[in-house]
Amino acid sequence: MFALDDSFARELVGLHQPWRAEPVADPSLVILNEELASELGLDVEGLRSPAGDSILAGNDAPAGVTTVAQAYSGQLFGGYSPRLGDGRALLLGEIVDDEGSRLDLHLKGSGRTPFARGGDGRAALGPMLREYVIGEAMHALGIRTTRALAVAATGETILREVDGRVTDVPGAVLARVASSHLRVGTFQFASATGDRELHGRLTGYAIARHTPDAAGADNPALALFDHVVDVQASLVARWMAVGFIHGVMNTDNTTISGETIDYGPCAFMDAYDPTTVFSSIDHGGRYAYGNQPAIITWNLARLAEAMLPLFDDDTDAAVESASGVLQTFPERFQSAWSAAMRAKLGLDAGVAGGDPSSSDPSNGDDVIGDLLALMGEQRVDYTMCLRALSSVVRGDAEPARSLFTEPEAFDAWAARWLALVGEDRSAIADRMDRVNPIYIPRNHIVEEVLTAASWGDHDALDDFLDAVTHPFEQRPGRERYAQPAPDAVDYRTFCGT
Ligand code: AMP
Ligand code: MG
Repeated sequence: MFALDDSFARELVGLHQPWRAEPVADPSLVILNEELASELGLDVEGLRSPAGDSILAGNDAPAGVTTVAQAYSGQLFGGYSPRLGDGRALLLGEIVDDEGSRLDLHLKGSGRTPFARGGDGRAALGPMLREYVIGEAMHALGIRTTRALAVAATGETILREVDGRVTDVPGAVLARVASSHLRVGTFQFASATGDRELHGRLTGYAIARHTPDAAGADNPALALFDHVVDVQASLVARWMAVGFIHGVMNTDNTTISGETIDYGPCAFMDAYDPTTVFSSIDHGGRYAYGNQPAIITWNLARLAEAMLPLFDDDTDAAVESASGVLQTFPERFQSAWSAAMRAKLGLDAGVAGGDPSSSDPSNGDDVIGDLLALMGEQRVDYTMCLRALSSVVRGDAEPARSLFTEPEAFDAWAARWLALVGEDRSAIADRMDRVNPIYIPRNHIVEEVLTAASWGDHDALDDFLDAVTHPFEQRPGRERYAQPAPDAVDYRTFCGT
């Protein structure tokens, strides 16, 4: 059913523990991502059979591969943890396509491993379905992400704190697909072993999987670092453009691939506010929406530190090379962010009235900044406002201006903005509708459909999933999904569940 390879297990001994999943009482599929399964060339019928359930829940090991718990370190809220690793997860192996590119198939909630510390090694159904929903929504928004292949219920309950009380909740195993599970923390772990040969092997492995051209560079390790800086700059720029807050941007949750990973306490912002924090454990607001570009820079600096001896034997020269690359982050981030925002505002085909020969990528950036400031002052819903702008371009300002408590300020801004929007208004408005979502996974709805699903009612989840995986297509009957949470409710998200 699965033809898996195990290159990570074979080539990176020293960065994992061979391990098996701990069988569960009564595995049954709760949800299968048929679209992803077909894309991967997997046998959908087989996955839906009891034999498929057994593999996806960890009761049967796939044939011919060594399954492993991966070792990694991590900076958790800034504090260094040298030995983190997969405490409740398992790398089953890699799905290799015809062109030879490989994707990890990984289980989360598959039982305690030698890295488990105090945890029970398990995962709860609600949070695993949450990872499924939000990951698929991100994918549909065109944002690079790990993806859920399936969630299987275990037929067992586990103890979790719910509303301040420890209670029994249904257990589940998530099957996740990723370009790889290499993280900044993987390099930190390799660096801490002091084993230069292992460290070099990891670098070669990462290059082969994520940026094969770097192998031919003058300094392959530095070229890999440059690649990670680039993909993370564009990833976080895309998060910012859709109002996504990751919530736990620890170095173990920062991938080498540039994919979003670990949908724990993440959420989408409603009213525009750079200080927005959802995570119940983020007391200092370290991972607030507006801090994300600074935090990813900090995490990339930790990667540079972990890779220094690979850049150059001479430490000063290595530091200089690493700094040179890291210094390119602000410009790369700004250019990716600005491109995404200009598309949202219909300014991507150049700015009307501007000098057509000018390729200044910041054309229109002050207009973008002023809109954000206005949204912030008047606490306007970020997603609704951006979506409503296409109506303004079509000649109807009302849907946008009615979101503002002082619409005159919006009118003044809109006049300046419209002067920059090109002539072909109807085509521009249509293009804007393809980059400004109507349906994002708003927390209050996510919680509602997951609660229903935990009680066995899947209709609401199915309907909501259909909406967020077609985020740009307006559909009657789904108005509620497009609305922000009622004012009185202060949502908090929880992780480690
Ligand atoms: P995460 O919040 O999923 O990124 O996990 C951070 C670290 O805690 C990783 O090393 C996990 O493997 C570990 N961890 C989280 N929950 C559990 C659990 N229930 N049992 C064992 N380890 C866990
Ligand atoms: Mg993690």
